[in-house]
Amino acid sequence: MNPTPFGQERGDIEFLFMAVVGGVSHVWGAILGATILTVLQDYLQTLLPKLIGANGNFEIIVFGIVMVLLLQYARQGVWPFVARLFPRGPRAHVPNHHEALPQRSKPAKSSPLLIVEKARKQFGGLVAVNDVSFDVKAGEIIGLIRPNGAGKSTTFNLVTGVLQATSGAISFNGTRIDKLISRQIVKRGIGRMFQHVKMLPGMTVLENVAIGAHLRGSTGVWRSIVRLNATEEARLMSEAARQIARVGLEKHLYSEADSLALGQQRILEIVRALYCDPTLLLLDEPAAGLRYQEKLQLADLIRKLRDEGMSILLVEHDMDFVMNLTDRLVVMEFGTKIAEGLPTDV
Ligand code: ADP
Ligand code: MG
Repeated sequence: MNPTPFGQERGDIEFLFMAVVGGVSHVWGAILGATILTVLQDYLQTLLPKLIGANGNFEIIVFGIVMVLLLQYARQGVWPFVARLFPRGPRAHVPNHHEALPQRSKPAKSSPLLIVEKARKQFGGLVAVNDVSFDVKAGEIIGLIRPNGAGKSTTFNLVTGVLQATSGAISFNGTRIDKLISRQIVKRGIGRMFQHVKMLPGMTVLENVAIGAHLRGSTGVWRSIVRLNATEEARLMSEAARQIARVGLEKHLYSEADSLALGQQRILEIVRALYCDPTLLLLDEPAAGLRYQEKLQLADLIRKLRDEGMSILLVEHDMDFVMNLTDRLVVMEFGTKIAEGLPTDV
């Protein structure tokens, strides 16, 4: 690996080296990386010519090797190794004397909550979602099933504003939401998890869940930077801790979230989605890759949420899981709805 393709000046790539060597997700990593590289460069520039007996920028070769090794064996850089020598207490402290955050009132049971009318999404010539209509009533668990590529995740993306529908109408709680952006939609009470679990690496379970509350605080960026948000943060953190305890993960509050088992990470994703206080929760293949016991726990959690008045739209392949859990099923094939009804009828 030679730095020249990256820029005219060798300086450009050196800054990148420093960050990667130190650790890109740590402030101290930048300082450590800069120190290591500067000292090493100095040292190598005097040592290498003596060893080889010729002049040249041979340190570039050593840096290249170091870089390859780091990317293979220590992608987080050197800082995490150093940090391990200085163990410290949990980052976010959890005060538990705060009262629960106010919750949105749940709509009356069986009232229409989400109505999707002839939603359509085209990617160029491909019709991923072909005029699909269905609805979710308050307090229902609806399953969306069928093979990969049928357009289920795309349907979720249309409902949550991640993608804009090519045509059709989507309304939630009586108002159209198909022209809104996802931030506005989540504010109205639609929470979701994505098909692929994404915990923020280097953050604890508590911090990962607390991120879900970003719309429930009112302190702005500037006040947060100068730490005028301490009371609010304490409230949000204690609520996050309570939500985590609710699903039985309180032992792991201060563990790094991506060190948990996949099943636990899935549940955390759901907890994080719940933390925006939704009335409709969208779950994209929550049981995929889970072990039998984990699936049972997940099904229990989903039922418990429904009993508390939550409405749930669920994409899933696992038919056992879906059959025992859902009130109604919607079946999609190549972007088109081909059946809808009670699980046993379908
Ligand atoms: P499912 O979740 O049912 O497996 P998806 O909704 O992910 O299916 O995908 C439906 C179809 O749309 C697939 O053929 C997929 O390749 C295509 N598709 C999904 N997202 C995009 C995109 N952003 N750009 C182009 N094609 C896409
Ligand atoms: Mg999908």
